[in-house]
Amino acid sequence: MSEVAKASPTAPRKLKDITQWDFETDVAIVGFGGAGACAAIEAADAGSDVMIFEVASESGGSTKLSSAEIYMGGNGGTPPQQASGFNDESEDMIQYLLMAGGPQADEKKVRAYVEGSLDHYHWITGLGVPYKMSFHEKRDVMCLTDDCLLYTGSEKAWPFVEKAKPCPRGHNIEVEGDNGGPLLVGILTDQVEKRDKIDVHYETRVVTLIADENNDVHGLVIRQNMKEYNVKARKGVILCAGGFVMNDEMLQKYAPQLLRATYKVGNPGDMGTGIMMGMGVGAAAINMNEGFVSLPFYPPAETTYGILVNSAGQRFINEDCYHGRVGFHLMQQLGDRVYMIFTATDDWKPPSFLFADIAGTGETIKELEEELNLPEGTLQHTMAYYNKNAADGKDPQFHKSAEYLAPLEPPYAALDCTPGRGAFFPYFTLGGLDTLPSGEVLTPEGKPIKGLYAAGRTTAGIPRTGAGYSSGMSVGDATFFGRQAGIQVAKQNAR
Ligand SMILES: Cc1cc2nc3c(=O)[nH]c(=O)nc-3n(C[C@H](O)[C@H](O)[C@H](O)COP(=O)(O)OP(=O)(O)OC[C@H]3O[C@@H](n4cnc5c(N)ncnc54)[C@H](O)[C@@H]3O)c2cc1C
Repeated sequence: MSEVAKASPTAPRKLKDITQWDFETDVAIVGFGGAGACAAIEAADAGSDVMIFEVASESGGSTKLSSAEIYMGGNGGTPPQQASGFNDESEDMIQYLLMAGGPQADEKKVRAYVEGSLDHYHWITGLGVPYKMSFHEKRDVMCLTDDCLLYTGSEKAWPFVEKAKPCPRGHNIEVEGDNGGPLLVGILTDQVEKRDKIDVHYETRVVTLIADENNDVHGLVIRQNMKEYNVKARKGVILCAGGFVMNDEMLQKYAPQLLRATYKVGNPGDMGTGIMMGMGVGAAAINMNEGFVSLPFYPPAETTYGILVNSAGQRFINEDCYHGRVGFHLMQQLGDRVYMIFTATDDWKPPSFLFADIAGTGETIKELEEELNLPEGTLQHTMAYYNKNAADGKDPQFHKSAEYLAPLEPPYAALDCTPGRGAFFPYFTLGGLDTLPSGEVLTPEGKPIKGLYAAGRTTAGIPRTGAGYSSGMSVGDATFFGRQAGIQVAKQNAR
């Protein structure tokens, strides 16, 4: 034990300077959210002694705040998929996730995730997480009933639909309202607490790692009640400390474009300390510029009939894709404005989650174009072309599905969806440590760092870009790869 010294997550303590170990365990886990809980349960069930260190006074992190939809499927289908008549082939799910990850998708992780997905379903339900054998058909951001399956991504939208047979893979826990996160974390916490081999320390901040001259990790330094203690991890340390959305300095450095969005989605612990600790012992941090940014313009699903235009009065996306993909492409637009245009019938109301102001109205498109101060003729041309094709159930430019195609008719209304002008743009980060599917943390040369593992938003996992994000990928990734890290570290010889 020592008086508080100035510790920095990127400056590991040197093993040779450690004169005493205050705690010893096989596996030391940083963070008690979804990834940390699952890592701890697997490591303990494989016979290891585990300590979890959590800076907050309770478990949960962002996992507890979330809807806890989990993206699962493949292997012919999970029981809720099969019961709802969906036969989900693994190759379709792999293809979808590879497209969703974009050029930086990690194929090894994607394949491991899909191959293990049905087993993950059974593991989670085996812990007591309930799912109803039902399908929520409506296009929604989240499911507020206790139904299970829903489409939570762009599976039915172009271009994904052309390459992978669509299937709903978002699994919503059987609970009314947006209460999946508290229920999932409650169950995981009970499972942790009933295992004698797991010891949890709340209100304990992990300040840095302890490493030798080769950067092999041997333990970590914690701060409790203003005092620092050294913890020896005989088999390894698992970093499960969430992402960095709450750290403006890191955002400015790595993902400044995210700062144009308006609402941080995360918990106060999302300060990037897990990522920094990894970097301090030579780990590669990758994908750090990527994030999820959403424009939640539905429900109701009918808003999908509207069109989005930029400051050149031009469309840029098929509006039937997932709200995060819309958010991603909206952020890439040149010019300073984005509008969503609707037919404003008497009973029309702006979508409730969007908080966007009405920027203009018009009995004709020319009138609306003038009111929005768009270059003359641009919106008129866009609308004429869109309406002509929509009447035939076609969208030659962006391939919006016929289900949401109908000519827009007067009177018209435009909502201001420009970032920074009132509309709601929630966001979080998707960059982190480079890891193997086993959770081993890698150097920039792709070499595993001995004694160091990571999972969840501290890593770059399955979700790699907002352009392909689908709800359920994050809690799915955190719980699945948290488990793999727990299994892997438990196999190591104690040092
Ligand atoms: C409102 C909301 C809704 C969401 N909905 C969904 C959804 O339905 N489906 C989905 O897939 N994703 C969703 N997400 C995203 C998802 O919840 C997270 O990406 C995921 O849960 C992260 O899990 P994790 O285990 O990596 O981190 P967390 O669950 O955040 O756990 C990290 C823990 O580490 C602790 N910690 C951090 N630093 C330290 C330190 N130095 N020392 C000790 N402890 C530390 C934190 O306090 C925290 O408890 C949502 C997020 C939010 C906030």
